[in-house]
Amino acid sequence: MNKVHICFPMIVGGSAGGVVQFLFDPKHIGPDRKDTRMFKAEQYIKESLSVIEAKRLTNTLRESALSDPLTGLYNRRFLQEYTETLVSGVLRRKKTIGLIMCDLDYFKQVNDAYGHNIGDALLKETASAIKKCVRVSDLVIRFGGEEFLVLMLDINEGETMGIAEKIRETIKETKIKVPDGSLSKTISLGISEFPLDTDSFWQAIKFADVALYKAKDTGRNKSVRFTTDMWTAEQF
Ligand code: GH3
Ligand code: MG
Ligand code: MG
Repeated sequence: MNKVHICFPMIVGGSAGGVVQFLFDPKHIGPDRKDTRMFKAEQYIKESLSVIEAKRLTNTLRESALSDPLTGLYNRRFLQEYTETLVSGVLRRKKTIGLIMCDLDYFKQVNDAYGHNIGDALLKETASAIKKCVRVSDLVIRFGGEEFLVLMLDINEGETMGIAEKIRETIKETKIKVPDGSLSKTISLGISEFPLDTDSFWQAIKFADVALYKAKDTGRNKSVRFTTDMWTAEQF
């Protein structure tokens, strides 16, 4: 018997990442082929695109040149290679990227007191604690020695602070074993949102960093949202 086909393309990163095909018995679908079930299916596919995009990127992570061997996170080179794809996807979907720059407080003291291996163990714990606080569609990047950049894709404006605070609380509660007991550290976080704060993604990273330094300067163990007064004219 003849079936009716309806296909939805899944546009990921500017190209068709796949096609979902529905097959119907003609008597089970209306003449305009756009009943509520089809509408819901189309919405569902659209909403899963950011997860699909992240999964695709995760496969790419297997290429070790783009990942950090200690923590298994993405590295800075990954960011350079994939920024354009990430940014254009988010702009096309008219959403926001929430940026959180995180830096452990007084991390050097851990190396000094317990040695580099314990320092490394703390970095690994920190990486997995941060990952647990965000969605699979978000990206966690080891940006520097003990600096992590979290990119939250497809969020709504203003949502970033809540996640930053969740990360801060989680790190504070995370304990790692050391020879004389256990150790926990705090983390400072700087937040910006793209494209709300600037239409340049790299400048949004800079803004998150500026906010992080504000957090450090004003006592550490806090999340600070970037505001324009932190960016003085001579920094341009
Ligand atoms: P602040 O609160 O101002 O951030 O103080 P801090 O001590 O965390 O900052 P600082 O930048 O002075 O120290 C960072 C240290 O991180 C210095 C470096 O030895 C250490 N580090 C960087 N990468 C690694 C690594 O892969 N493993 C270990 N164990 N230590 C690292
Ligand atoms: Mg530090
Ligand atoms: Mg640092």
